[in-house]
Amino acid sequence: MSFENLNLHPLIIKAIHEAGYVEPTPIQKQAIPELISGIDIIASAQTGTGKTAAFMLPALHQLTTPSTTNSRGPRILVLTPTRELADQVSNAAKKYGKYTPRTKVISILGGMPYPLQNKLLSQPVDILVATPGRLIDHIRRGRIDFSRLQTLILDEADRMLDMGFLMDIKQIVSFLPQSRQTVLFSATLDPAIEKVAAQLLNTPKRIQIATRQTRLDHIEQRLHYVDDLTHKNRLLDHVLRDTGLKQAIVFTATKRNADIIADNLYACGHTAAALHGDMNQRERNRTLTKLRKGDLRILVATDVAARGIDISDITHVINFDLPKFAEDYVHRIGRTGRAGAAGIAVSFASSKDNIHLKRIERYTGHSIASHIIPGLEPRNKTGRHNDGIKKSNAPAYRKGKHSTSATLNKRQNANPHFMRAPKVTRSTANRSGLGK
Ligand code: ADP
Ligand code: MG
Repeated sequence: MSFENLNLHPLIIKAIHEAGYVEPTPIQKQAIPELISGIDIIASAQTGTGKTAAFMLPALHQLTTPSTTNSRGPRILVLTPTRELADQVSNAAKKYGKYTPRTKVISILGGMPYPLQNKLLSQPVDILVATPGRLIDHIRRGRIDFSRLQTLILDEADRMLDMGFLMDIKQIVSFLPQSRQTVLFSATLDPAIEKVAAQLLNTPKRIQIATRQTRLDHIEQRLHYVDDLTHKNRLLDHVLRDTGLKQAIVFTATKRNADIIADNLYACGHTAAALHGDMNQRERNRTLTKLRKGDLRILVATDVAARGIDISDITHVINFDLPKFAEDYVHRIGRTGRAGAAGIAVSFASSKDNIHLKRIERYTGHSIASHIIPGLEPRNKTGRHNDGIKKSNAPAYRKGKHSTSATLNKRQNANPHFMRAPKVTRSTANRSGLGK
């Protein structure tokens, strides 16, 4: 499919081609027609998949038809969490709107002088890109006329929530026409985002681009079968003693468990702390800052709290409890192996989790190799060892503790049963699509 199939104005297509884009990305293919049709959407796709054009191209397309309201205020409002992102969005709008009429873009960002912004706001504007805090100031001073606003776009909504902008956003929305289109983009969708969407959007359509497209090849995925909680805790202790471990995130299923494990680890002398949705923003920020600075070695977190963390020293992700959804598995393990570094993702599972594991493997197109640590073998060794992974290979796995991706690959090559046969083709196919 090409951009021509998306019914965008020819002058927008011209600018896109000039930008060197040949084909729309998956999120663009799905979101652009929906947004042109005028409905609200809530969309998620990984970072770097072209979300900006996905919302900006339809916005520019709308602007090609003159407004029927006699006003000079913005027709499109984009809220972003940071100045840097706002700059990126404004630049993209200017680039894609290079040839189309009525596309005056201005940015209103925190930390910039008010007089200049007042001057900008006194002129006609079509696209306003802003960070929430500063925008609220101007709105309160009556400097913005939203009477002809058609579309509100919340970019990186998850980050805006993480940064505590929810109240500001709600207040901004209270000044906007009810008849508007509302678009929410986020790298991840979680219950907090869904709640905001339910409040601000009008029967939105969900567009979720499968995160399996994330490159996971540089993350070594390991599985440990566990008998019970004591066994899990011993294994956790073992993994955390890995000298190659710089920083780790341990994921738990519940907030309570995150607290308990963090406390236990702390009591055992680890620098560990919990992060979850029950903590207030201040506490969460403080913990994340510590982690970022390296003052914290282990973060014990739930799914809700640990999204979007981008810290290059996180060498290990440990799924103390498996995530409920396969998609979250990918989000979780993507916290390691940042910026091209290698990462290790360790998952604990009991034999009861086999179906769940299969679901995860189907989703990622990758079979997770099971490892055994001498002295910490599971009592119940049947687990999945019978299922595709031959017991005769057990000695090799016992070296699991020191195994590297390279040794794993060798083993996989030597033993075709290591990966279950039907999956090999599937995963190969997936991966070959990823490199692009
Ligand atoms: P996201 O918001 O999803 O993180 P961006 O919108 O910032 O992603 O886009 C990431 C990069 O991809 C940008 O450099 C952008 O110019 C480029 N890009 C976007 N859409 C396309 C496309 N259809 N073809 C080629 N490059 C694209
Ligand atoms: Mg973006």
